[in-house]
Amino acid sequence: DRIAVSDLADKLAIPAVVLIKSLIKAGIMASINQSIDFEAAEQVAKSLGVAVERPQRERADGRVGEGDEGADLTSRPPVVTVLGHVDHGKTTLLDHIRKSRVVEQEAGGITQHIGAYQVTVGDRSITFLDTPGHEAFTAMRARGAQVTDVAVLVVAADDGVMPQTVEAINHAKAARVPIVVAINKMDRPGADPDRVKQQLAEQGLVPDDWGGDTVCAPISALKGQGIDELLEMILLVADMRDLKADADRPASGVIVEARLDRGRGPVATVLVQNGTLRLGDPVAAGAVAGKVRAMLNDRGESVSEAGPATPVEVLGFDDVPEAGDLLEVVAGGREARQQAEARAEARQQPEARGGVVTLSQLTQKRQAGAKELNVVLKADVQGSLEAVRQALEKLSRDEARVSVIHGAVGAISETDVTLAQASDAVVIGFNVRPDGAARRAADRTGVEIRTYTIIYQVVDDVQAALQGLLEPEF
Ligand code: GDP
Repeated sequence: DRIAVSDLADKLAIPAVVLIKSLIKAGIMASINQSIDFEAAEQVAKSLGVAVERPQRERADGRVGEGDEGADLTSRPPVVTVLGHVDHGKTTLLDHIRKSRVVEQEAGGITQHIGAYQVTVGDRSITFLDTPGHEAFTAMRARGAQVTDVAVLVVAADDGVMPQTVEAINHAKAARVPIVVAINKMDRPGADPDRVKQQLAEQGLVPDDWGGDTVCAPISALKGQGIDELLEMILLVADMRDLKADADRPASGVIVEARLDRGRGPVATVLVQNGTLRLGDPVAAGAVAGKVRAMLNDRGESVSEAGPATPVEVLGFDDVPEAGDLLEVVAGGREARQQAEARAEARQQPEARGGVVTLSQLTQKRQAGAKELNVVLKADVQGSLEAVRQALEKLSRDEARVSVIHGAVGAISETDVTLAQASDAVVIGFNVRPDGAARRAADRTGVEIRTYTIIYQVVDDVQAALQGLLEPEF
């Protein structure tokens, strides 16, 4: 079985040009539109420091990956992240769902904060990631982890769509994750859900009761009203994605949280994405090897196995892995260590960090068949933001499109850089500059930040990049 180079680049969350270069290094000549076999894909992914799991979207599409012939693909619970503006009720919602549902499952159940938890809804389950906000969401994505199936956008009914709501929407859109809107604080006297829906529609999220396809659920996280309906809506939207996994294969997953515990050593919460993780399994996560010595579920109970979409705290890593690292079960302790070493080495190469593009590289990207230049655009005022956005989008041609995946007023922040890294974008500032954290993040990741004060200079540079006229940078 084979995978298209463009799909593989997507899945690895790296620019196609980086992938193609690595393929060439491995002696495989393939253009973006060609397919390579899974063995080659695996080899190259490993050289880039990324663990390979058989892609789930492939399964969801009904296509079958290598080793899946005759495999028993069964539905798995959706994994949900809660996004939204500060103080609109994300934490209250997550806490309410956790408390009410876990108590329902078993009287007196004590919940443990391990970074994710699973609740039951009728005879089904939903897994919630416990760190709300698009910063955490996109940071994971920038590390190559595609974890979230559905985003719940919390908007306070009395406050409406705010700047971070727009940011959250754009981050979810850039990740191509469907959004369910929870219109919260419906108990407040100033609650105005219609105004929220109007504002959502202006952001391209047209509510379903207005003829659009965005599901909105009015809730009060504080009073626990409307939560059952919200959970049903999440399952409904998840069903459209047809999420499947094969519980019979060795586990692959992602590190959600990790820390060094004084008594227990390195402790990491693993979200199993496919397969089943078992006690004794030798594992590799990022540059860290280990063996599953003990597993605890989100209620602090000891478990011996964890299936798809299940979060578990895992003990037995040699070192502390990083959130967003991909985890896989490997053949044996020795191999685990070797793979971890190979990955640690691959990480030293900045190119392998993935998700980085510069305007001057666009020439190569275009030759590699890339069709889109993603831009994160920040400006000093709304007027200049819209002027630059329109000027840039007008440059789009059939061969190459400019897409402003996020545009907002304000200084360039670290989150902007993370989004650019995760989405293979450049950051353009108009009459604004990066703050210190953003500059450091850009240095660390190689994300390009360009700042301008004159509109035609932005347009000229982007146009030149599109036409492949920019000389390579020194
Ligand atoms: P976050 O920053 O989005 O995580 O917001 P929080 O969950 O911390 O909530 C911010 C404030 O709004 C807190 O004081 C909550 O008690 C309050 N809050 C959250 N949900 C509701 C709600 O449904 N109704 C009312 N009246 N207050 C709420």
